Parts: sequence; C-alpha cells; structure tokens
Amino acid sequence: MFGIWFERPKYWNKVFRSHSLYIHKLVKGFQDVRICRLNFNNVRDSVRGIIHANNPNLFPLGPNFASVNDLLRTLLVEQIPAGWLMCPICHTRLAIDHGNSIHFDILPGTGRSTVEWVNSLFSIDNPPVCQECNVAFDEPIHLSKIPHIVTFDISSLSSRFIISTKIKLLKNTRNTILKIYFGNNHFVMRMFDCNGNVWFHDGQGNSGIIIKECYTIDNMNLNKCQGKLASILIYGH
Ligand SMILES: [Zn+2]
Repeated sequence: MFGIWFERPKYWNKVFRSHSLYIHKLVKGFQDVRICRLNFNNVRDSVRGIIHANNPNLFPLGPNFASVNDLLRTLLVEQIPAGWLMCPICHTRLAIDHGNSIHFDILPGTGRSTVEWVNSLFSIDNPPVCQECNVAFDEPIHLSKIPHIVTFDISSLSSRFIISTKIKLLKNTRNTILKIYFGNNHFVMRMFDCNGNVWFHDGQGNSGIIIKECYTIDNMNLNKCQGKLASILIYGH
C-alpha cells in the first residue's frame, strides 16, 4: 500500500479517506515513515492491533495464516457503483445493478487473462432490446464512477493466466500502478509504477527495503517471481 500511496500522497490520502478507518490510520503512519519518524513495522503493528481487536478470529496476533485477501477486504471497502446499458440509436439508458465490489475472485476456467475476465464481467450476453428503436442495447456496462483501486485473487489459477499491466475497468490507464503478490504464506511483491519502474519487496530479505529492479515490464514474466506464482493483483490509478 505504501508503494501506491507514495506515488501521489495527497491524491491517495483523499481516496483512502472513503475506505476503512484502518487504511486511514495506515496512511497517517506512511507520512511518519516518509519523514523517518517511524518504520514500517511500527506502522503495521499499530494498525494490526486494532484490526485484531475488531476481528480476532480472522486476524489473530503472532505468526499465523491470516488471509491477505481478507485483509484487503477489511482495509478497502469501496463498492463499484451500479451501471447502465445504452441504446446505440436513441442513447436511452437501462440501469444494471451488477453488484460487484472492488475485490474479485477469479476462478479457473472463467477467462484467460485479466482483460478478458473484466470484459466478460462488465458486458451482458443477449442484451435486452430498446422498445423505441427495436435494437439491442450495447453490451458493455457503463459505470458512473470508476473505482480508484481494484484487487484480484488469482491464487487458484495456473501460470498460463495472462496478467495485464492495464485493465479497461480503470478509466485513465495512463497512471495505473500494478502490484503483484507472489506465494501463499510468505509473500514477495513486485510493483509496476506509472513511470514504468519495477520494484521488488521481500519482508524477510533486503532488510525489508523495497528495491528497484533492472527490468522493464516488456520482457518480464508477470506470473512468476523467485519460483512463486502470482496470487494477488492490486490495480490502482
Ligand atoms: Zn433506442
């Protein structure tokens, strides 16, 4: 989260304010990390205590197997607003309540890539017909508000699943940041910032410091890192 926040602190301060109190506190801690008043462990522990107090079963203290996806769902609570289909001729709108949150669980056999999966989720097979014009509504679901952040649990997929660096669900893909977590219990992370830089983090290696990698996205296998398969994707913009 620090990597995403650090790109545009003022912007993300405002965005995260509409999420949970936990992320609000986390972001306040990031400001202290930036001026070296606290380190990451101090900040993590301060938020972890509150999360544990409110959800002791999901997030026990000490070394444990708490789910990172549960953590994301607890920290980030934005909903994707209901959308609409549009008639290609008279532009009449037909409201569609797709009911999606910003957290997606991709199951095997539901798409070959993040792009294909998102497209299938936000388009309708056999769309209804506009009564006025007698033509089918356009298939893609239009959204009034684009989410700032979306997450994907891809932990049950194989290495053949194609991870895209940008997805259509985010309106302005120019500033898209992609974070990929690899592994199951011990995670390592890669982050692709909006300037095309690649960052790597392993909480147990490099003294916990995020290091810049000498790669570009173009020649990188996004699915694997240090022998571990990608399991969680976070897109922010
Ligand atoms: Zn029409």
